[in-house]
Amino acid sequence: MAIIEGKNIWKIYGTGEAKTYALRGVDIAIDEGEFLAIMGPSGCGKSTLLNILGLLDVPTKGEVHIKGKKTTLMNENERAIFRRKISGFIYQQFHLIKTLTSLENVELPLMLDEKNKEYRRKIAKELLKLVGLEDRMNHYPNQLSGGQQQRVAIARALANNPKIIFADEPTGNLDSKSGEVIINILKELHEKGITIVMVTHDANLTKYATRIVKMKDGEIISQH
Ligand code: ADP
Ligand code: ADP
Repeated sequence: MAIIEGKNIWKIYGTGEAKTYALRGVDIAIDEGEFLAIMGPSGCGKSTLLNILGLLDVPTKGEVHIKGKKTTLMNENERAIFRRKISGFIYQQFHLIKTLTSLENVELPLMLDEKNKEYRRKIAKELLKLVGLEDRMNHYPNQLSGGQQQRVAIARALANNPKIIFADEPTGNLDSKSGEVIINILKELHEKGITIVMVTHDANLTKYATRIVKMKDGEIISQH
């Protein structure tokens, strides 16, 4: 069974003259263990689709199913559980909290779950080690390179031991060398069994993808 399924997803922003059809009837099923790359020109609806599949946003029309369950029938608590405990998000802009150290940024999702302090610290340290930042635990985001910040963001996304990682242009702000490090981390996570759904322009990032979905003007035009 698909872990996530989008059925006839439409997303329309704005009204009247200013209406934008960001998604026009997208159908997509993602199986557990896939490494999916969503590609296509700027403005074709990739981020919108990712946010809807990740339950960060709702479609104007259509249904998202998580493990066969209609998300429109879920209450906000169940949706929050999916977002917080089953999925992790990585963005182009990292979105770290500037006033917190690497360790504190990674601990943050665990705090929301009211885990005790020692446990949080232990997990956060292990995750920062996993992404090769054991010597940057007490640094603040502005003391780190872009690639290092993205590794902190990946460690944070892993804090709740997610089954799925949603990544929106994870190498978009990085030079090719730092990008390569991020790509290899995502590859390793995939090998550990995490499902990855990623939006990218970066052809280097698609080399480990198990499927490439191409979009244009709010529609899927090919997948292989
Ligand atoms: P992509 O990720 O492929 O660049 P997006 O999903 O970000 O595309 O955007 C698809 C279209 O929807 C674009 O025309 C964009 O300008 C528009 N759009 C995206 N988000 C919003 C929003 N919050 N309000 C209005 N229009 C939006
Ligand atoms: P990215 O491509 O990294 O997702 P964008 O610059 O496309 O970043 O979008 C950043 C944010 O702005 C998103 O939350 C998106 O929904 C919103 N956005 C994108 N296009 C528009 C638009 N035309 N009008 C209003 N909001 C938009």
